[in-house]
Amino acid sequence: MIYLDHNSSTRVDERVLSKMLPYFRKGFANPSSTYKIAQKAREAVEDARETVAKCLGCEPEEIYFTSGGTESNNLAIKGVAWRQRHRGNHIITSTIEHHAVLNPFKWLENRGYNVSYIPVDSAGIVDVEALRWAITPETILISVMWVNNEIGTIQPIREIAEIAREKGIYFHTDAVQAVGKIPVNLKEVGVNMLSLSGHKLYGPKGVGALFVRKGTHIEPLIHGGHHEKNLRAGTENVPGIVGLSEAVKIATEELEEENERLLTLRNKLEAGLLARISYITINGHRKKRVSNTLSLCVKYIEGESMLLHLDLNDICASSGSACTAGSPEPSHVLLAMDIEPEVASGSLRFSLGRENTEDDIDKVLDILPKVVEKLRSVSPYK
Ligand SMILES: *Cc1c(COP(=O)(O)O)cnc(C)c1O
Repeated sequence: MIYLDHNSSTRVDERVLSKMLPYFRKGFANPSSTYKIAQKAREAVEDARETVAKCLGCEPEEIYFTSGGTESNNLAIKGVAWRQRHRGNHIITSTIEHHAVLNPFKWLENRGYNVSYIPVDSAGIVDVEALRWAITPETILISVMWVNNEIGTIQPIREIAEIAREKGIYFHTDAVQAVGKIPVNLKEVGVNMLSLSGHKLYGPKGVGALFVRKGTHIEPLIHGGHHEKNLRAGTENVPGIVGLSEAVKIATEELEEENERLLTLRNKLEAGLLARISYITINGHRKKRVSNTLSLCVKYIEGESMLLHLDLNDICASSGSACTAGSPEPSHVLLAMDIEPEVASGSLRFSLGRENTEDDIDKVLDILPKVVEKLRSVSPYK
């Protein structure tokens, strides 16, 4: 099998798994209890918090563990909307966000908040001037993702953070696709809140974190015990949290070297496909793009049919976002970039990762052109 869908999920790294296992067994105790093995579990959680904080350049007290990227985004967005409602009811996001951001915004919109959706250019970069103009005295929150999951474009987060700070508006970024792929230093980038997820960086599913900068006030969504300083109730997912921190640590340590390796493989795949297949276009910014992601549109055929044929050859990729897979709607991200719906429906995303080798790329370069040729020979469009 050739797995080229790392932006959807990743295999838990063996080093991460071996750190987690003791906390399913001997170290199972509730970190809130008082005896020795419970204290060990508490220590593991606090060590993990310190590790994550160190990798991101923030304080351990600013890290809150959650059940993943989706919960972190919901907590940041609805948490600010609730707590800061007295200051205004206008909130801003972009048109290319993950559904874990777009849908909380829609939910708030249905409950009386005014939402501005900031457009992107044809390379998928958020229009910062449009964002600046959208701000009103009522604006309480801006949320823009750091790296887009479908096309891999890197957004001007530092610039947006500065605008938000100037105006005294809270700024949240969904950094699920950024952490582990590009350097993320919270000392240098003035965001108020940042979401990350374990299973996108070789950690376990069902665990994530939200960074909340000191002095940023948000309302909890999940009520119960006093866990996570009253911001997120529920007994801590100790093995998950330990796994997440180890995953963040490994990804940070290996980032530079791994990026270079992936860039070589991705560029080989991109150049090879451009040379072998006619009428294809690359989506997203050619430079401001993470090194593992290749999104393209193949004209005159459906992304879904290509995926099916790739799957028959044991190649895993994706078309559009996983969340819209199976629906006939082309990706909202590609449509936001002004790509024609007929073209967008022929989209394909390869996202490379740790276990990929040059052999994998060669195999795709051999198989995909044949698949495209076959599908085009029966295509009703051409
Ligand atoms: C995967 C993903 C999420 C959701 O994270 P989960 O941990 O799966 O809930 C949110 N945002 C982006 C950009 C993602 O890629």
